[in-house]
Amino acid sequence: MPEIIEPFRIKSVEPIRFTTREDRERILRDAKYNPFLIDADDVLIDLLTDSGTSAMSAAQWGAIMTGDESYAGSRSFRRFEAKIQEIFGFKHVIPTHQGRAAEKILMAIAGGSGKIIPNNNHFDTTRANVEFTGAEALDLVIEEGKDPDHLHPFKGNLDLEKLKTLLSRSRDQIPLGMVTVTNNTGGGQPVSMANIKAIAETLHANGKPFIIDSCRFAENAWFIKQREDGYQDKTPLEIAQEMFSHADGATMSLKKDGFGNIGGFLALNDDALAEQARNILILTEGFPTYGGLAGRDLEALAQGLDEVLDPHYLEYRVATVRYLANKLIETGVKIVQPPGGHAVYIDAKRFYSQIPAEQFPAQVFVNELYVAGGIRGVEIGSVMFGRCIDGVEHPADRELVRLALPRRVYTQAHVNYVADVIAEMFGRRDEATGLRITKQAPFLRHFTAELSPL
Ligand SMILES: *Cc1c(COP(=O)(O)O)cnc(C)c1O
Repeated sequence: MPEIIEPFRIKSVEPIRFTTREDRERILRDAKYNPFLIDADDVLIDLLTDSGTSAMSAAQWGAIMTGDESYAGSRSFRRFEAKIQEIFGFKHVIPTHQGRAAEKILMAIAGGSGKIIPNNNHFDTTRANVEFTGAEALDLVIEEGKDPDHLHPFKGNLDLEKLKTLLSRSRDQIPLGMVTVTNNTGGGQPVSMANIKAIAETLHANGKPFIIDSCRFAENAWFIKQREDGYQDKTPLEIAQEMFSHADGATMSLKKDGFGNIGGFLALNDDALAEQARNILILTEGFPTYGGLAGRDLEALAQGLDEVLDPHYLEYRVATVRYLANKLIETGVKIVQPPGGHAVYIDAKRFYSQIPAEQFPAQVFVNELYVAGGIRGVEIGSVMFGRCIDGVEHPADRELVRLALPRRVYTQAHVNYVADVIAEMFGRRDEATGLRITKQAPFLRHFTAELSPL
């Protein structure tokens, strides 16, 4: 088999800026030891997120020039709506400026105090939007999904027994059920078609709607094609269509598998729910045929949704993540296994075993990574998911660092560089010490938290 190559050639480039180690020590100090507060110009390779960071194709840039900016009934909306209906199959397509706006609208309708929303793992914005309404965001991922070494092929699956128990105990408190594909918080892990089908059957048997958080639906479809019996000969499009045929709606950030720099949607089958959602949409996002987006964005996103289902692209995408993962494993770094679709998740608890969770080992890792190589990753540990209650830190279950790969942006040499820098950090991991939080916000504290070295 010849090497899997980048399935594109580059026609437009953007220089990246080099800094010295001394520069970066000062920059990190000024950013209060929180890489979210570093200017992007001070970052050499930015693996903070795969959200909104995709390289658009020539066809997407071309589509932008054809955008119809009519306030109502824009042609670009009709193209966007038709593409989403083709892939996802839902009757109502409600454009939003990004994924969390769709979540906010859905939770405004379904959430509220005393309610419980089950999911495999709620992503941070989903959890925040659920909790903001007073509802509980409950994570029901399978036990294998919590074990970083377990090689289960679908570690994003939701535990059906737990869902059934929940429904039998608290049926009236549950307005709907969700599953996230792929499971971002749990390591970018896929959910199987069998699991999606079984969740749908369980929820429907209890009269509850099933909503898929579909940010990385194409990567999930690719894993199903690779790993689940009966899907080898199906196209990613056919698999995606089947996934969503089991659901009653979807939320989506088109900044992920939409190849968009901005955009999202809420899609629903139910007429009454969709009407409620559109009424809220008008308050905050805009008229239902643009919903917080320009006509040109809708064009680029419709084109992006077409391109993301290309098997050559998906093969390269998943191979890139696996390639970085394998290099780190060879070094001796513990990562969440098997690697997911969009990112490598490093187990910082085991990288810096001398640093207790209360001192944020995953945050220490992202800071060291920046100072050592100008690389930016994101902490998915106790800064993001821990809670400070009466001045006492309650750590999260895991201390992960996510290195998310923007789509179609970095080359194999960039990935080699990242692996080299981490190998160097691994060699002197015993020298690292912990951090404490000096300032934090009540919700999504990781975005703005200020820290200092102990
Ligand atoms: C990114 C993301 C969201 C939120 O989308 P935004 O466009 O960032 O608002 C929701 N769920 C998952 C799984 C995500 O990855």
